[in-house]
Amino acid sequence: MSGKITFTMIKPDAVAKGHTGKIIDHVIQKGYKLVAMKYTRLSEEKAGEFYAIHRERPFFKDLIAFMTSGPIVAAVLEKENAVADYRNVIGATDPAKAEVGTIRNLYAKSIDANAVHGSDSDENAAIEAAFFFNGFERF
Ligand code: ATP
Ligand code: MG
Repeated sequence: MSGKITFTMIKPDAVAKGHTGKIIDHVIQKGYKLVAMKYTRLSEEKAGEFYAIHRERPFFKDLIAFMTSGPIVAAVLEKENAVADYRNVIGATDPAKAEVGTIRNLYAKSIDANAVHGSDSDENAAIEAAFFFNGFERF
């Protein structure tokens, strides 16, 4: 399955606004198969570990505060060229720059509250999927 999965989170802003169902449907309509899914909430420690690469960035504290502010939906998605295609499905990090029809264009309001996460490489997709799911939770 390696190279054919990506990892996504529906972030607290989109969950709180009731966009979960629409986003999951959008992803399925784009050809992705759900192979794992979980409704959960990140602790500060878990969020810090997940976003460790951004630890030195000026927005790190705000990012952790936001990502722990409410429940999220974590999921593993399968499709050919999963990682790169999903970046196009979600759109640019800053929703103001996200192409029309992308998930961030449709459901995000700001660069920090930007509705969804998507892995940026096959390597990180595998790491992030394993961070949230064990082998028995994946289909
Ligand atoms: P993600 O990793 O969530 O899919 P991304 O890969 O598009 O988003 P990254 O550069 O990995 O963007 O940044 C991770 C997250 O940190 C962003 O999704 C956003 O929530 C937040 N972030 C990034 N840049 C900024 C910024 N300049 N100001 C505030 N928050 C930011
Ligand atoms: Mg990223």
